[in-house]
This record gives sequence, C-alpha cells and structure tokens, in this order.
Amino acid sequence: MVRSQHIYSFLAKTLMYPIGYGIKITKMNFDSNKWKIYTWKNWMMIHWIINPGLAINELILGQRIPKLFLEDRGSNKPRIERSFVPCPHCEMLHDSRTWSLKNGTAFKNWFGLYCTNCNGIIPCLRNSLSLLIIVITFPFWFFIKDRIRNNWLKKQPNRFENLDLDSIQNPFEGKGWLKQGLSWGFFMFIFMTFLYPLIKDEPIESRNILIGIPIWTIGGLCFGYTMKLLMGTKE
Ligand SMILES: [Zn+2]
Repeated sequence: MVRSQHIYSFLAKTLMYPIGYGIKITKMNFDSNKWKIYTWKNWMMIHWIINPGLAINELILGQRIPKLFLEDRGSNKPRIERSFVPCPHCEMLHDSRTWSLKNGTAFKNWFGLYCTNCNGIIPCLRNSLSLLIIVITFPFWFFIKDRIRNNWLKKQPNRFENLDLDSIQNPFEGKGWLKQGLSWGFFMFIFMTFLYPLIKDEPIESRNILIGIPIWTIGGLCFGYTMKLLMGTKE
C-alpha cells in the first residue's frame, strides 16, 4: 500500500512537471492585493506549455519562463517594468528585465533562470514538446547531465555582472511590434520551410515556400500585435 502510494506520487510529479506540481515556489506567500500572481493557470503560461513551436525557443535558444512571476498592481508602467520574478531559494524579487535581449541574458538559460543573489536556479515552465523530446533522448544526456549543468552554472555569474535595466524599453512599443512580429515571422518561415525539411530529410517544396510567405507574414503580425497588447502600459 505504502509502496504503491510512492509510485503514484512519483508518476503524478513527473506528469505534472510542466506546470510545476510540488514546487516550493507555489508555496511562497504573496499579498494578492499588491501583486497579480501568474502561474500555469494563466492563459499566457498555458500557451507557453502547449505551443509546440516554442520548443525551439526552449531547447535551441534557451529561453525560459519562470513558473511564477508577479505583476505590481499599483504600477502603471509597461509590463516589462512592473513584473518581478521571485527566487524560491532566497526569496529575492528580481526585476524581470534581468533576463533581456539588451543584456544578452534572454537566451542560453537552458537550466532555468539564474539567481544572482543566491546562485540558485529559479524553476521554469516546461513546454510539453520540449519535455517529450527530453524524455525520448534521455540516454544521450542522462549520464553527462551533471557535467553539462555544472559547466553552464559556472558561466552564469559573469553573464549577469553588468546588467543595465533602466535603458531597456518595451520592444513592442509604438511601431516596434511590426519589426518584432515580422522578424519572428521571418525566423519561423526560414525554420519551417528550409530547416525543418532538412532535419526530417525531406525535399524543400516550392509550394511550401509560396504558402509559407503569407502564413508567416500574417502569423508574425498577429504575434507582434498580441505582444504589443500584452507588454504595453495598462489603459
Ligand atoms: Zn535566490
């Protein structure tokens, strides 16, 4: 009886991993009058978990989203300036701009978000396709995972040494969303039309190129505009 309970709890933890079951961070207490608390129950976070395209962001680029972040309800600043990421190990609240393109820290966070205060790792969401790929390829990384992780960890303090937070602006502000959306669409177009067939060892078809151009242009503009709405100041 006791043993089967262990097995069930292990299975439940593994299956629920992408949404953060059993993680210490969900037990931290925050004043919900002051903070809006974002966990996997928010649609943006669910989108991160289920959209298979984001596995590229996670596994190749190393872009990660924390399992929990806070938004200051009292602030009218753009979202990027009113969001904070708490570290479950030392309880420090990090400015969300700590991890940004401008500081070169938006990517390469394969093992999670590094806490500059306690050298711990802030747990992050896991995209479901990423999780599937990680599970399937486990014989290739399981025996070297500690070495890779330690090497990665050693490089982190340097990356966060000279952070410049104040000059970071919302890249989707004004007409910025057009540029951001179209660059994202262009990246997806190149990846899906040319690189993806190469990976799957299939021919690149001119039909897919023709279809891909309008699809990723529209897709990119929708992405950019959604981000503009999400990242902007409150009305
Ligand atoms: Zn910490």
